[in-house]
Amino acid sequence: MDLETPLSSLPGIGFFMGKRLEKLELFTLEDLIFHFPFRYDDYSVIKPADETQIGEVVTLQGEIWSIKNIYTRYGRVLTQAIFNDGTSPIMLTWFNQSYLIKSIKAGDKLQISGKLAKYKNKLSIMVPQWERVGANLDHPEGGLASHLHTGRLVPVYSETSGVASKWLRTKIDKYLPVILNKLQDPLPDKIRDNMLILKDALAKIHFPKDTDEIDKARERLGFDELFYVSLATQKTRLSWQEKPITKAWKVEKKDLDRFISSLPFKLTSAQIKVITEITSDIKRKYPMNRLLQGEVGSGKTVVAALFIYLAHLNGYSSLFMAPTEILAWQHFETVSGLLEPFGITVGIYTGSRKFTKPYTLNPKPSVIIGTHALLSDKLAAKNVGLVIIDEQHRFGVAQRTKLRQKGLPVRQAGPAPHFLTMTATPIPRTVALTVYGDLDLSIIDEMPKGRLKIKTYVVPEQKRKDSYGFIAKHVLTGEQAYIITPLIEESETLVSVRAAKKEFENLKKIFPRFNLGLLHGRMKAKEKEQIIGDFRSNKIQILVSTSVVEVGMDIANATIMVIEGAERYGLAQLHQLRGRIGRGSKESFCLLYTTHSSVEDSKRLKYLETTFDGLKLAELDLKIRGSGTIFSTAQHGRFEFKIARLSDLPLIEKTRQAARDLLIDNLELDKYPNLRAQLQKISAQVMPD
Ligand code: ADP
Ligand code: MG
Repeated sequence: MDLETPLSSLPGIGFFMGKRLEKLELFTLEDLIFHFPFRYDDYSVIKPADETQIGEVVTLQGEIWSIKNIYTRYGRVLTQAIFNDGTSPIMLTWFNQSYLIKSIKAGDKLQISGKLAKYKNKLSIMVPQWERVGANLDHPEGGLASHLHTGRLVPVYSETSGVASKWLRTKIDKYLPVILNKLQDPLPDKIRDNMLILKDALAKIHFPKDTDEIDKARERLGFDELFYVSLATQKTRLSWQEKPITKAWKVEKKDLDRFISSLPFKLTSAQIKVITEITSDIKRKYPMNRLLQGEVGSGKTVVAALFIYLAHLNGYSSLFMAPTEILAWQHFETVSGLLEPFGITVGIYTGSRKFTKPYTLNPKPSVIIGTHALLSDKLAAKNVGLVIIDEQHRFGVAQRTKLRQKGLPVRQAGPAPHFLTMTATPIPRTVALTVYGDLDLSIIDEMPKGRLKIKTYVVPEQKRKDSYGFIAKHVLTGEQAYIITPLIEESETLVSVRAAKKEFENLKKIFPRFNLGLLHGRMKAKEKEQIIGDFRSNKIQILVSTSVVEVGMDIANATIMVIEGAERYGLAQLHQLRGRIGRGSKESFCLLYTTHSSVEDSKRLKYLETTFDGLKLAELDLKIRGSGTIFSTAQHGRFEFKIARLSDLPLIEKTRQAARDLLIDNLELDKYPNLRAQLQKISAQVMPD
């Protein structure tokens, strides 16, 4: 029996429970042991009933005097028992657990926990936790404690149908000691310092004696989560820096000036700042690995174009990958416009167009812009000096790695390309330091002048009709609107597309005077282009769309965005969506509709009415909903944190520093075989290829 043992093969679990556990993502013993409690019920006060106040949560030891089922008129079953701890009889009541009378008999000695109440002038406890006195002492495998479910801090786990905390507790107690006996602590002593050893941390997280033990266990386990991520990212970072490039790029001021003065606008100082940062990277002897973060509309594409130009001047070609066809085409147009005047050929390579005329290979393009089609082995890229990925979070780690390697010559010897990833997703600093710790970060934190604030409103259901009138009024004046249906692109199944179509028919009835168009991720590229073209030329006035428009639409005449089911998105994501409007000189409006909104949802969404700083919104997301909303599904699961909070800056800095120190001393970790094994395991999980 070891950590990898499948749960379904274990005595007392078996096939059927094994199947149920899969719903909790628990497959192996390791998963079970690392299924941590999300809270503890404090039943640690043990005393006689006559010393207990009404309303107090207490644990009592005593005897069952009688027990029976009572069938109510409404088909419910109450199980009632009289229990006496030697000071006073107490009525115990359970609901719909008629089977209890088979396991609890008069005369049984029980330990029970619950809140003492008075009912019809008698002492009573509703739905008490219970177990036999000393229940766990004759445990065949010798569990960790005499009582698991009462009389202590009782761990409560996330459950699924047919798998209750009580059951989980029993199994964890049974198998934990077996595993702990074999467990090596991979963390070197000098890093562990005065934290608990792993074995103790695991024992205490499940069955703590007091809250101090919980804190200590969480400290150690939270440290581990962040430390291994830091180790993975810092290792990537340091290995990457070890690959020298043959020739540092030359960057001449006159070339920079020539490009900048060709622009129809003045760069913002934030753009100039990141250009300086990137320039100093490419003048170095090792490849750049940088993340450029800037809100939608902050002007990242121009920055990218500049470095494509510099690559060209240094004799290199570039690859530029975007997550959607729409976006790839838009970049193609922008970049062609910016670079063709310098005699640079721009190619496009997507699922639907592979260098078909007029985007030929002759002359060879200095930059190829495309979707993930760029990853295809059919595309042989030569002499790539720069790889750019836009909206990098939309791609999986494996895809990003593959594109980066495209730039490597055959057999992957020799120079690696400079790597620039871009994102409009604001990334809180703490997240950047850990999850993106392998990258350097540049931020465009300033928008080009003259952008108006987008007036944003959370619209209550009863105001929906009025808001349709509001939309119609604006569209009548010649403006255009987006209506975003509550489907997330990743889950665009046929069923959800059907739902979008239905919604579309519905909206056509609501806006009979206007031309409506439908856009979704399942459409052929040709159809999409057609729809977008019609929207751009105002043939379509209202565009009903899934969130594919999140990236890649730049239509200044669109001034209204309705987002249905807004509660499904993170705040930063909504902010990114609304960035599609407010691009012209007219006032723009974003209306947020909710479907099943709770008070918390509305409260959360209200932040968008007053906050226009994407980074602030992302930090709110992190605080309110955890790290889940920051990552798209592609990256979700890259790093999952059960305990560590991605907002814990001091801990993050500590783990990052510890990882760096260790790696600088011993990059391959051969002095720490346990640690290396652990890292390999984690890398295999989070960075599959
Ligand atoms: P992002 O990719 O960051 O969302 P883009 O690069 O697509 O933003 O830029 C959005 C729009 O702003 C484009 O039309 C671009 O030409 C314009 N733009 C970029 N930089 C500036 C600037 N400094 N001043 C004015 N307009 C700019
Ligand atoms: Mg962009």
